[in-house]
Amino acid sequence: MGWGYKTHIIVVICSLVMGSLAHAQHNRRYREGELIVKLRSQPNGQAFHFATTRPMSIQAQAAFVQKAQNRKVRSLGNWSGLNMHHMRVEDPQKSVESAIDELKNLPEVEYAEPNYIVDKLDTGGPQSAAYTLTQVLSFIGSMSFGMTAASIQAPNTWPLMAGSNRTIVAIIDTGVDLQHPAFANALWINTGEIAGNGVDDDGNGYIDDRQGWNFAYNNNNPDDDEGHGTHVAGISLGVTEDIFHPPGVPSDIQIMPLKFLDSTGSGATSDAIKAIYYASNNGAKVLNNSWGGGNYSQALAEAITYAYYKDALFIAAAGNSSNNNDSSPSYPASYKIPNVVAVAATDDYDAMASFSNYGFQSVQLSSPGVGILSTYPGGLYAYLSGTSMAAPFVAGVAGMMRHESGTMNVYQIRQLLLSGVDVLPGLAGRVSTSGRLNVLNAVSLAQTTPVNPYKPEFFLTVNPADRGLASSISTRGGGCGLVATLGKGATDSDDQGLGAQAKRAIIMFSILALPLLLGLGLRSPEKPASRRRFERYHMDSSVKFTIGDQELMGQVRTISLGGSEINTSAMLKEGSVITMQITSPDGSTRLEVQGHIVWSESQKRYGVAFDNLASDVRQKIALWTKGLPKAS
Ligand code: CA
Repeated sequence: MGWGYKTHIIVVICSLVMGSLAHAQHNRRYREGELIVKLRSQPNGQAFHFATTRPMSIQAQAAFVQKAQNRKVRSLGNWSGLNMHHMRVEDPQKSVESAIDELKNLPEVEYAEPNYIVDKLDTGGPQSAAYTLTQVLSFIGSMSFGMTAASIQAPNTWPLMAGSNRTIVAIIDTGVDLQHPAFANALWINTGEIAGNGVDDDGNGYIDDRQGWNFAYNNNNPDDDEGHGTHVAGISLGVTEDIFHPPGVPSDIQIMPLKFLDSTGSGATSDAIKAIYYASNNGAKVLNNSWGGGNYSQALAEAITYAYYKDALFIAAAGNSSNNNDSSPSYPASYKIPNVVAVAATDDYDAMASFSNYGFQSVQLSSPGVGILSTYPGGLYAYLSGTSMAAPFVAGVAGMMRHESGTMNVYQIRQLLLSGVDVLPGLAGRVSTSGRLNVLNAVSLAQTTPVNPYKPEFFLTVNPADRGLASSISTRGGGCGLVATLGKGATDSDDQGLGAQAKRAIIMFSILALPLLLGLGLRSPEKPASRRRFERYHMDSSVKFTIGDQELMGQVRTISLGGSEINTSAMLKEGSVITMQITSPDGSTRLEVQGHIVWSESQKRYGVAFDNLASDVRQKIALWTKGLPKAS
């Protein structure tokens, strides 16, 4: 089976770069003095090749931090396992642009970009006063569901719900009113964390994150000081149950409040990235993103790709500029990553909202987003409009689909969600499905369609034309007609004649290549490197594995009769028991092996030591590795 990364030929047309750059310069907005810097996952000087990708050692990262410090750029923190640093320019005379220019010339820097500011995507504060529940009930009368008059068929779906999987839907937003009665049975609780003991009990890097996290102010209180997030969360919950008459039983979805937008509804890309990693690593399978703005951020695109490999759907509001996203992208909705669903807003009569962005290539469906009545802080309710309101309907429905079919992967959920829309003439050419969300169709499809494990590999290919102000774009001329061949089979000689500019400009990214170093702090340093007794071979095969009740995926780098090196983004702990299903190099068969996680000091990475291989398994591995290149 081919992996699809065999050879990537990327042709960059110069005029496109320049045109896009001009546009990018026009609307960029970023946190003053702040940068996101990604260090190379490669040994010095080599072009990106995921089979040789590895995390930078702590020492190398420390050396980089010192070099940056010498240039008056300080590290504010890092995701060391991702080789990524959040930095700030200390010198008031130095612009972000010149800091990027300086850092990009360091050999260990893969890219550097400004920390773009993003904003909530409603059309502006509550359109009228907020109401008490009593007031709401007096004017919706006997209606159970007053959020929209469009025929999305949510209440008709509720009696048919039969599943048991309480899908976690992360609301990446301004926070959620944790005391609001509508959420009494709906909020996610981190059961691995003991509240208020000042200890990171579950080892996820966040202390006392019992109810989510506040990335805007870096504390464990994701309460809402703005209103937008509470409204959005109420829509996701409200599509699954009657929020005006709360049923008083555990809801079908769990709302995970992740606050990164501040009290003005704005936030930094660095905090959005943290929230996405948090959601993906803590079990959320649907991420609602009713925010946007900023330029193309490779770091953000990598985080969304990470979510894809964690099997999480990324629902994004299309934007409120009456814009065609096909010609003028709106991020994050416009990232072409297979878990992204971009949502336009329609009104009660299924007409495209005047403010809504659209795009036949880049927006997938519409959903109600005009005059939506939902929860508001203080235990209240309010009307808001925007693609911000359209997205969480879709997020709630995706949660319902997972509730009904807990093993369906993100790729299939997305497909069924999109195939279940009501096709409407007014949406032809405006969204790729020409349709508006239909809850009943989507949930029925999840209930009746056999689970298909197919999930394509995805490699993030970055077109410099999308990048805007970032290290890969030279503002001093650069080269035209860049052509590069990267990927599997690319050797150093393939890269000859490819300028350093082009090397930096064209970057492939694979989340499977993400390092194992995430768990570095958890390993015991005194353990010696395990001795190798068997010949090791290079192998590029996918592996599905389970540790405890977590199902994860990764890539086998090398294999021997004694064990295997794997690349995965999962947090691994030394000594954990692991069950692996390794795909053969030709993709035709699978092998199940048991083992445990070990740390290799010499390789600076985690690996798996196999436990008592059965003789038929040993034979199979011997057969597989015949003809594969030996690993040194
Ligand atoms: Ca924790």
